[in-house]
Amino acid sequence: MTPTIAAIIWAVGLVAWVAIRAPHQRRARRIKTVNDARTTADRAALGAATVGLSVIPLIYVATGFPAVATYAFKPWMGWIGLLAEAGFLALFYASHKQLGKNWSVSLEIRDKHELVTDGLYRYVRHPMYSSFWLWAIAQFFLLPNWVAGLAGLIGVAILYFFRVGKEEAMMRQTFGQAYDDYAERTGRVVPRPW
Ligand code: SAH
Repeated sequence: MTPTIAAIIWAVGLVAWVAIRAPHQRRARRIKTVNDARTTADRAALGAATVGLSVIPLIYVATGFPAVATYAFKPWMGWIGLLAEAGFLALFYASHKQLGKNWSVSLEIRDKHELVTDGLYRYVRHPMYSSFWLWAIAQFFLLPNWVAGLAGLIGVAILYFFRVGKEEAMMRQTFGQAYDDYAERTGRVVPRPW
């Protein structure tokens, strides 16, 4: 495991992200939205995650900037990064598939929206956000640079902490008691052992 291989693993993750998401984005455009809870702040939070997970690390991988923030790479970092990246892609793919027509890039309730409570959603309410955390962890271990490495974690933290409460409020408003019961038996991003 070398820094170059680690950077390639990171880049493969970025390409796979675009490829996994594209068909869902195309389909979502055709499905009517009945409750649009998007705000400028939500768009900004999504923007922060995009900058942290793609723009800043891309600049680092392509140019080495900012070189002062680079530290020594150790093979074990690459292996942890690879594991986290594999977990990210598996969860990202499966959560899109399981949400199906109910997926939106932002906070929206779709026409004929159904509450998904099986598959990954049986254990956690936000497996796609779990996958984002894994992605940011993968980036941290794959890119030995404080700026590029931490940018993903900061971007995901902004998106996650800004959005998760609002998303749950929207779901509660739509599904009422059914969502309360569902929330009672699931964890947010990691399964609840009790
Ligand atoms: N937070 C979820 C989904 C992210 S996509 C996850 O991390 O897996 C965001 C959209 O998914 C929201 O607009 C919301 O309408 C929808 N959504 C979230 N949880 C859902 C569920 N359990 N069933 C159906 N739709 C859900």
